[in-house]
Amino acid sequence: MNYLKTLSFAGAMAMATAATAEERFITIGTGGQTGVYFVVGQSICRLVNRDTPTTGIKCTAPSTGGSIANINAIAAGDMDMGVAQSDWQYHAYNGSSEFEGKKVDKLRAVFSVHGEPFTVVARKDSGAASFDDLFGKRVNVGNPGSGQRATMEVVLNAMGKSDADFALASELKPAEQAAALGDNKVDAIIYTVGHPNGSIQEATSTVEAVLLPVTGEAIDKLVADNAYYAKATIPGGMYAGTDNDVETFGVKATFVTSADVPDEVVYEVVKAVFDNFDRFKGLHPAFANLQEADMIADGLSAPLHPGAEKYYKERGWM
Ligand code: GLU
Repeated sequence: MNYLKTLSFAGAMAMATAATAEERFITIGTGGQTGVYFVVGQSICRLVNRDTPTTGIKCTAPSTGGSIANINAIAAGDMDMGVAQSDWQYHAYNGSSEFEGKKVDKLRAVFSVHGEPFTVVARKDSGAASFDDLFGKRVNVGNPGSGQRATMEVVLNAMGKSDADFALASELKPAEQAAALGDNKVDAIIYTVGHPNGSIQEATSTVEAVLLPVTGEAIDKLVADNAYYAKATIPGGMYAGTDNDVETFGVKATFVTSADVPDEVVYEVVKAVFDNFDRFKGLHPAFANLQEADMIADGLSAPLHPGAEKYYKERGWM
């Protein structure tokens, strides 16, 4: 009797395994819930999951620590895909900067998304009018694992400074920093992020605050020396308290994966986005001006994943 029970249980298990064999779960690393990466991942998954009945691919896009955390998760095989700043894609693939000695050979580019200006917001009562004014003040440099934290280190290095030049260098996550600014726990916050976004809106509407320019010789040199950086402007009038354009520099948000992810999976993900491109662009205002031609070229320094390349060739884009 017991023997029979065991047999039928094993039989049921075998059937369940057969039925789910065609299913494939993929995970996309994003960023904090108040950022744009989270919307990128959620939007891609929404389009991918419309095709689950035919492709078998089920996509989830949890909140993460950001660019560096996503690349590390892809390298470890813990995530299949992720969003990462173009500077960290470059360094991860080339084993430089933060990734020195930790080269991610299997990192592959899929496409780039929106531009991400390096954005600094200061309380008006801090008196800060430019990035240089932040030294000696309380600044949220961001959580380890985030792109902005790592890029902040690059900026400070380029200026011959470090975290120690701030009165306080806090490590709050993006979702926590607007409230910290409003509560006067910090004088300024930084975020490498697409615009417009809810997080900067929250920061500039809870307290009188201004977006600060990030310019000068050190920044000019960073932009001149590195193809993944470009000058960037945050349009005036986008956020309360900042009516004029703000000059800074920025990167691109890029979508990356691993050479270990099968071609047909990356192909289906790319197809879901570009076969429904108008719908995708409607999912966040930062996506409104995206152009296919830029997305398959700009900000990509790792080799293109063959599954993505296949789709771009089919569309006649390459
Ligand atoms: N650029 C940020 C990072 O790499 C994330 C921005 C966002 O979540 O939109 O961590």
